[in-house]
Order: sequence, then C-alpha cells, then structure tokens
Amino acid sequence: MSGALRRALAGPTYAAWRILRAFRRDIGGLRIVVLHGTPDESLSALDRLIVTIKRGHDLVTPDQAAARFIDTNANRRPACLLSFDDGFASNHRAAHEVLARHGVKALFFVCPNLIDLDGVAQSRRVVETVFDGHGERMPANERLMTWAELAELKTAGHVIAAHGLAHRRLSGLAGSEREREINGSGDAIAARLGGTVDWFAYPFGDIDSISAEALSVVGKRYGLCRSGIRGDNRTDTHRLAIRAEPVDLAMPLAYQRLELEGGLDGRYADAREKLDTFARTAKA
Ligand SMILES: [Zn+2]
Repeated sequence: MSGALRRALAGPTYAAWRILRAFRRDIGGLRIVVLHGTPDESLSALDRLIVTIKRGHDLVTPDQAAARFIDTNANRRPACLLSFDDGFASNHRAAHEVLARHGVKALFFVCPNLIDLDGVAQSRRVVETVFDGHGERMPANERLMTWAELAELKTAGHVIAAHGLAHRRLSGLAGSEREREINGSGDAIAARLGGTVDWFAYPFGDIDSISAEALSVVGKRYGLCRSGIRGDNRTDTHRLAIRAEPVDLAMPLAYQRLELEGGLDGRYADAREKLDTFARTAKA
C-alpha cells in the first residue's frame, strides 16, 4: 500500500481495529516504539504520540522494561518503552524539548564508528549504511550525536545502547568481522561513557538482516536484543527476540495508534516465528 493510501485509510482502519480489539483478552505486554530522526517539524507529533501512549499504557524506563517484559501478564495495563535508532542529533533536541517535559526515559541505539566521523564523511557513511544506499539523503541540518551529547543524555537518565559498530547487516558477516561489529559497539560505548551496555538492536531490524549465528554472538555479549519486528513482548518472549514497533511520526495519529496497539502484528507472524527459532538455536 502506498504511503498516501495508508494515510487516507488510517482513520477507518484504526476504527475497525478498535472494534476487533474490544474482543481481545490478551491486552498487556510490552510494546517498544522505534523512532529514527526527529526533525523539528515532527516534535509536535512526538509530543502527541507520548500523550496518547500515556493514556493507554505505563510508559516505562529501559530498566523497568527489562524487568517488565519478563514479568508481564494479561491483566496488567500494557507497558510501552520509547527507543531511537541510529543516534541522530535531532533526537538530542527531542530529548530536551519533548521527553524531558513528559519525564520520559528512552533507549538510544548508536553506532560508535559513525559517531567518530564528522561532516561530509559522516553524512556519506550514514547514507551508505544506515539508509542502505536507497537514495535517501541526510536531512538538512541533521548529523549524528557527539559523544558529549550522548553523555548528557546518559546523565539525564536515558540509556545509550549498541547498534553495531558501523550499522552493517549482521546476516552478511562472519567470523571475527561479525564479532567485531557486534561486540565492538558495546565495548566502545562502555569505554566512552562508562557503565555496562546491556541492550543491543541489530541494524535494519528486519528478519533478513539477522541470523542464528549473529544472535549467538549477541547473546554472549548482551542481555537483551531488540529487533524491528512487530509484536508485543510477554513473559515468554526470548531475550534475544524482542519485538518492536517502528513508528513514522509523519503518519496520522490513527495509523500510529494502529501500530502501537497491535493492528499490524498479523503481518509479522512469520518473521516472529523465524526470529524465535534463531533465538532458540543461538548458542548463547
Ligand atoms: Zn539503524
């Protein structure tokens, strides 16, 4: 479906979903929202999304989430955690201007080797790796956060987590190269910012970008691995197969609510099954 059609149908689709959802008894669990860049023009949408999440969920911190998805049950109010991928500098503004106002503590997944580049070199690498050369450009005035900005977020109570050293697709790597890409990101963050790094989100998040072999390496270094595959997290969710909801702030709120409340989960059943199989067979 095209973006324009999705946008036009968001209201009716969400209304229909609400009716179906009223019959579901298994509300609860933990949803993890995935956001990317948050340019100024999206900050009011972010504000509105947080207000909406708070109405229907406990908006939890990364540490609460780590405990919560291990301890969720059907009778609880659902929980929700915000995460931001790739470490765009616009997220730093969003943290100051929006998250702080709502008392929200989020997870920020970053790639140390990209942070260490600057200016044109960084933009070029982000376009090649993070945007995967799909023709998407680095937005005007955008760059990645510096280590000083990440340290500030950490001091404010946010969690800085690993997203690969240089945003390489893990399913295409092997041996020491794969280990360096996975372990090196957590090690570099710990060396720069102190503390331990327990969360990892594999680059791209889709099922073709991960493998059982890569999850084995992840599982030895990190406690939790977040995917980009939709679904909620429950007591029995494998620690290396954590589901999440990519949300586009440019879409209408009704569509964001559809994503947040599980309206798109059905399309990801196969991907979830594969991810669970990878996690179970990972030698962690
Ligand atoms: Zn990413």
